[in-house]
Amino acid sequence: MCGIIAYAGDREVVPLLIKGLKTLEYRGYDSAGLVVKQNNQLGIIKRAGRISELEKSPELGSLNGSIGIAHTRWATHGVPNETNAHPHLDCKKEIAIVHNGIIENYAGLREILKKKGHNFISNTDSEVIAHLIEDFYHGDLTEATINALRCIDGTFGLAVMSKNEDKIVAARRGSPLILGVGDHEMFVCSDAAGILEHTKKVIYLDDNEVATITKENYSISDIYGNGIDKKVHEIKWSIDQIEKKGFKHFMLKEIFEQPDALENTLRGRIKDKNIKLSLNFDIKSIKRIIFIACGTSWHSALIGKYIIEKINRIPVDVDYASEFRYKNPIIKEGDLVIAISQSGETADTLAAIKEAKAKKAKTMGIINVVGSTISREVDSGIYLHSGPEIGVASTKAFTGQVLAILLISLYIEQEKGNKIEYSLVEEITRLPEKARTIFNDTEKIKNIANDLRESKAFLFLGRGINFPVALEGALKLKEISYIHAEGYPTAEMKHGPIALIEKDFPVIFVLNKDNLTKKCLSNIEEIKSRGGKIIIVTSDKELKEIADKIIYVPATKEELSPILNVIPLQLLSYYIADLKGIDPDKPRNLAKSVTVE
Ligand code: GLU
Repeated sequence: MCGIIAYAGDREVVPLLIKGLKTLEYRGYDSAGLVVKQNNQLGIIKRAGRISELEKSPELGSLNGSIGIAHTRWATHGVPNETNAHPHLDCKKEIAIVHNGIIENYAGLREILKKKGHNFISNTDSEVIAHLIEDFYHGDLTEATINALRCIDGTFGLAVMSKNEDKIVAARRGSPLILGVGDHEMFVCSDAAGILEHTKKVIYLDDNEVATITKENYSISDIYGNGIDKKVHEIKWSIDQIEKKGFKHFMLKEIFEQPDALENTLRGRIKDKNIKLSLNFDIKSIKRIIFIACGTSWHSALIGKYIIEKINRIPVDVDYASEFRYKNPIIKEGDLVIAISQSGETADTLAAIKEAKAKKAKTMGIINVVGSTISREVDSGIYLHSGPEIGVASTKAFTGQVLAILLISLYIEQEKGNKIEYSLVEEITRLPEKARTIFNDTEKIKNIANDLRESKAFLFLGRGINFPVALEGALKLKEISYIHAEGYPTAEMKHGPIALIEKDFPVIFVLNKDNLTKKCLSNIEEIKSRGGKIIIVTSDKELKEIADKIIYVPATKEELSPILNVIPLQLLSYYIADLKGIDPDKPRNLAKSVTVE
């Protein structure tokens, strides 16, 4: 959450910062601002709202310089207005900071600094950082920042500049931050997407590291000033992967990218019907798996429980990361804790993995973003390689996660020397092509979206492995179209939610053709007889008569069915949001990559 970009070099910095902010806007879009060093003064502009508001400000044209920092905010403390927008300044307007995270002891620090004569103008927690650094500043910004950070509890991704020095100081604890190494220019950014067009060479900062960049150089130390050598990594993503490529929204592009993304998740991992994963621990000795995740990833975890308990007969627990970390979880020998996170930066999941490690569990990650914090924290893991996911509502990462879990499950059996179901392995290789055929029905799904767009609430129902798909369908709809929706196990409907059914209430059934179909037919009848509108996502052609609307997906093995079944639900939510005039890439109150608790 929140995007930071900073630059020191020879180029005109304002257009570069604005462009970088736009790429990062999915991380937060409450307000935006930037500060530039100009004639040994700090020139600052901030606006409430989107980056387009900042871009429109006439003062922007009169700002020039080649060193600056910028921020797009996802407010945690203080309403999203212009005063609370970052950057924040010290009293003398000589030091500027942008911050991602939460300063937990800000209230106490603020009181101390006020007593010392500092004057605060915003309601944010972040502003204390500028005043603290001012208090410690005696001509060396790095030293003052280090001293200030030692007083701070909480999380930060931070960039600081001073009107007196041609450098930027950056630091992180708990919030992601990378350095970009260019040719006679240096960058600081919350994620690689913001600087990819300028450089592919990056350094991932770790917690409690402080970097100082000038246009020619960088140095990194710990929070006590001890120098640290860091590896420079090469990013594999390309620019066109983070562009819309003719799609109206990133979300739509990412839904359509799923067949390719699934191919990428599979690449090199199935050879001669063998599963190839490189894990650096002995997975066959695992006695229990605990998935920790949030949001959409939590739904993948629920599907994972179903898959692993069926195939491996290993007990699986699924926990919300935020709950896991605070409940003194029971970890025993033989437990494997698997964190699922698209960004690999989700604060709750990261904290939960640290808790698991402290209790001596083996840990693993299922992560999309290479080099992200969680991927570096876990003992071992599997990258999705789904490509950058920019749309706030997760789509291709979800289907990639489910596929990755299935690969892990088969790999465990293989490592145990058990026979794996080859027809399932073969079906996995056919999956991307099957997913592709769903897009032939896009117009039909759009028409159904048009029919349902005025509905005030939805129910999503599914059984077994499709129950989490129902949850995911409901979450997608809530996230981007602001329509209330709930997911339930189909048979649970009569224990409460059926009271909601009245004429034309939309109920979406996710149905596989299996031994439970007959039971679900009774549930459908129960809803129909109360006037509900039945929409079915299925491969079963025999259900045509009973449905008001039916969306077909290709038939597949049960373990793979969630991947195909969820795609029409993603499209349905997308089209409803778009028809309602909502920007599905930037739904209100949400932001990608939840890096605060
Ligand atoms: N806590 C800070 C604020 O509310 C930073 C939020 C962010 O990460 O965007 O301003």
